[in-house]
Amino acid sequence: MITIEKLFKRFHDLEVLKGIDVILEKGKTAVIIGPSGSGKTTLLRCLNLLEIPDSGKISLGSNRIEFSPSAKLRTKDIMTFRKQTGMVFQNYNLFPHLTALENIMEGQVVVLKRSKEVARKKAQSLLEKVGLKDRGNMYPHQLSGGQQQRIGIARAMAMDPEVLLFDEPTSALDPELVGEVLKVMKDLAKEGMTMVIVTHEMKFAEDVADQVIFMDQGIVMEKGTPDEVFNHSGNPRLLQFLNKVS
Ligand code: ADP
Repeated sequence: MITIEKLFKRFHDLEVLKGIDVILEKGKTAVIIGPSGSGKTTLLRCLNLLEIPDSGKISLGSNRIEFSPSAKLRTKDIMTFRKQTGMVFQNYNLFPHLTALENIMEGQVVVLKRSKEVARKKAQSLLEKVGLKDRGNMYPHQLSGGQQQRIGIARAMAMDPEVLLFDEPTSALDPELVGEVLKVMKDLAKEGMTMVIVTHEMKFAEDVADQVIFMDQGIVMEKGTPDEVFNHSGNPRLLQFLNKVS
């Protein structure tokens, strides 16, 4: 479903991704963990081409892009990839001047060219799904962080992406609001949504991940089932990291 091969990305003279290889099957959840600055967010942003990798390949469903410094990507390929991936950001990134409902409708109408009526129906059912049926007419500033992030998830879902990408979706939240967002994500995982999640929530990773990917200094140091990574790895960098965060 998603195949990442030998992915490299540098920012000026800083090499941030140094040959990443990952395979994720459809309907599965991958959780990326690792110290700050290890390249987790950059990898996620490369998956929907918010960052363009320098070299390597990404396949998503039947679409495959090969990157190289000399080859210019076609806008059409970039758009196709973006449509297949929905991103949930750390700081929600909702439009402040639009209501919750309108935030969920916007991309459907503008990008997917759905009618307002169809988009509204879909937005309403997604509001219900994330437990915010009665909050559709509220503006982001009238909602708690946890509620805003649930709107962020509904907005990403509204585009019917093949994969949902989460960039530290709970790290801006007060601790008491983390659970409600993780619950929505857990439900999505159970329903068979394909997801890639960058998070520091180790317990959540252990519960939900089919695959845990430990990144350090731009490489995948360890990957496997939660049990393999959390309980049976002898990798000293991983053990040191897990000791620090637990
Ligand atoms: P993580 O998500 O693991 O904390 P990031 O992918 O955010 O790591 O960042 C990896 C490294 O790349 C960091 O050193 C960061 O400062 C650098 N970096 C990230 N984005 C940019 C950018 N747009 N320009 C320059 N450096 C960047």
